[in-house]
Amino acid sequence: MSASTIGFPRTGPRREMKFALESYWKGTTSEAELLATAHKVEADAWNLQKAAGVSLIGLDGTLYDQVLDTTTWLGVIPLRFQSLSGLPRYFAMSRGGAALDMSKFLDTNYHYLVPELAADFAPQPDLASFLDKVARGQAAVGREAAMPIVIGPVTFVALAKGCPLPTSEAVRRLLPAYCELLRRLAAMGVPEVQMHEPVLATSAAADLKAEFEAAYQQLSQCGVPLHLVTYYDDLGAAYPWAVQLPVAAVTLDFLGAPGAAVPAQTLALIRQHGFPADKRLVAGVVDGRSVWADNGTAVALLRELLSSGAITADRLMVTSSAPLQHLPYDLDLEGDHLPPSLAGRLGFAKQKLAEMVAVAAAATSNSTTTADAANANTAAVAAAVAAAGGTVPCGAGDTAHRQGLPDELFSRSQPYAARREVQVQLPAFPTTTIGSFPQTAEVRRLRQQLKTGKLSQSEYERLITGHIAYAVGVQDALELDVLVHGEAERTDMVEYFGVKLGGMWFTTAGWVQSYGSRYVRPPLVVGDIEYRGAMTVWEYEVAESYTSRPVKGMLTGPVTILNWSFPRKDLSRAAQALQLALALRQEVAALEAAGCKIVQVDDPALREGLPLKRERWDSYLGWAVDAFRLCTGVAKPATQVVTHLCYSDFDDILPAVDRMDADVLTIENSRSDNAMISALAAAGYGRDIGPGVYDVHSPVVPTVEFIKSRISSFVSTGILDGRYDRIWVNPDCGLKTRAWPETIAALRNMVAAAAAARQDL
Ligand code: GLN
Ligand code: ZN
Repeated sequence: MSASTIGFPRTGPRREMKFALESYWKGTTSEAELLATAHKVEADAWNLQKAAGVSLIGLDGTLYDQVLDTTTWLGVIPLRFQSLSGLPRYFAMSRGGAALDMSKFLDTNYHYLVPELAADFAPQPDLASFLDKVARGQAAVGREAAMPIVIGPVTFVALAKGCPLPTSEAVRRLLPAYCELLRRLAAMGVPEVQMHEPVLATSAAADLKAEFEAAYQQLSQCGVPLHLVTYYDDLGAAYPWAVQLPVAAVTLDFLGAPGAAVPAQTLALIRQHGFPADKRLVAGVVDGRSVWADNGTAVALLRELLSSGAITADRLMVTSSAPLQHLPYDLDLEGDHLPPSLAGRLGFAKQKLAEMVAVAAAATSNSTTTADAANANTAAVAAAVAAAGGTVPCGAGDTAHRQGLPDELFSRSQPYAARREVQVQLPAFPTTTIGSFPQTAEVRRLRQQLKTGKLSQSEYERLITGHIAYAVGVQDALELDVLVHGEAERTDMVEYFGVKLGGMWFTTAGWVQSYGSRYVRPPLVVGDIEYRGAMTVWEYEVAESYTSRPVKGMLTGPVTILNWSFPRKDLSRAAQALQLALALRQEVAALEAAGCKIVQVDDPALREGLPLKRERWDSYLGWAVDAFRLCTGVAKPATQVVTHLCYSDFDDILPAVDRMDADVLTIENSRSDNAMISALAAAGYGRDIGPGVYDVHSPVVPTVEFIKSRISSFVSTGILDGRYDRIWVNPDCGLKTRAWPETIAALRNMVAAAAAARQDL
């Protein structure tokens, strides 16, 4: 048995692609220099895979985004870019005012550029750079090993927006371009082409059977064997027909999202329906979405698969459960920074390659050493966790994730109607902001100087105090009703809390591509979460000392911290969310004890954690909302709990949003043109609401008239039935990416608009 890869980090081990792109955009380097770096980064990754012993290597690599690459080779270029060509066109589509929209790639934290397909779209394939990459791949790893990666036509259409055509028609129109590509690849001696169709793992697959069958019938006639690659979850109800599509091999994900309440059911599906005797199965048993080393699961899965009799070893290969692009490049880069307690327990992309190869060898050997060693490793992890404080395993069932915590911890002591009466009372259309104020170069420099020891903690605090005082002074002068301290001390809303809590670890080089040249370094949950003392009380107190107006305490919620981290594998995500919630709960109490009357708990990543399959939503929302409730349930009736949600529409999870039981819900609203507030009004949502009145992503200063018309449009949805003191006026999101002058101008207009709306009542 051997190993196959379906994707690898495209960043370079040391963020080479990011730096190459940035200097090209600045004009410091030429197009040729950019491409030379890109080609080297690609070839290094392919060679690394070959050196690790992988036998079939997916030819991953991109300048910016693989979906944009697909849009480009298919030649489905939106009209506004058609006068451009080459890299200038490619980057005009990626960034700047006219760029394509960005959206999360299925349930990952990777953002892709959304294809736009107009009613009359007509592909004009431009295959040169795709074929050039394949030729470079063949030169690097050999013809037999170099496997082109193509995003399949059905997934491509599912990822697109604005297409008025039925999916079947849109797919049909793309097929000649796909077929032309496949014929050219066949002519290059490519033995097989990977067709990536992750949409098969979503609930949408149920309605795409006919489209898949028609498309693959045609594509199977284009001269080269196909390898259907699926990931991010099992195929569910689509399994029986999807594995019968006319392809030579199928990659299936045996694991699903890390820590999911319901793991991928692939093994059960194979046991139940069998696997076609004429195909190879590439088993995604090495966890491609987790930074933890395999603990014996992979070999155990392969052995169970073989003993099920559904497949024989000669038709079986090993791969990662998802493309490795979602993992950091190489754990070795951490060097001495890696705590000894984690040594041997982690694996980034490079380490996963070795794992795949070892697992493939071990599964068919009689020796049990790999599995035994792995089991011993698991036992060691469990022992370490127990020693660090112990945890209760999480069972199944609706509230089993509560782990015996008393119900009253999950609820405020009084219902909204009663507690709202004793909270801050303000006139109609109270004004506030979402938390962050401009992160200036000066603020970033201070944080850097603290980190490198150039500033002492007390010097740093003195200087940050100045920034907080400035932000508070500005808000006071503008006469906002509820103030914030401005978050000058925070690099990032997760890292700030993660470094102060026990049980989380931050890498130095564990970068993962978020989009294009933007990489993030997600923290790792490595043990039980431990509250080590106040995290935000100091900045609250500083801000409060400069004003007589109410100041909000600012926390990031448990679900967002977890969803933007790599979770543990020995404990369910639900249990980890509750641990985070218990820690944050202590911070809510600490803020209250310091006199804070309004606490904001941001959980903007709540929705993006939703499983790909609808039938798994309830279980996720059950624990996710419980985590929020556990964190905020401690607040006294008189303390106002605010939350903030953004990045996505959540009209399909309104009952869960309602169950959060926040006193005030602030939401991103302007880009969706009131869709969310209308949905909330229609659902009879009855607590305070703060729909964003302007888009914070643009430096344009909204006029008083514009904001006032937004406020009237909220009123006209009928929400809150005339309780105008419960309709808040705030921007869509935090202001950290803006500059001060536009921020002050926009907030001045916002306050004036609220005052005018008040006058009109
Ligand atoms: N309080 C955070 C801020 O204002 C919220 C950020 C977010 O919603 N992503 O920056
Ligand atoms: Zn936001």
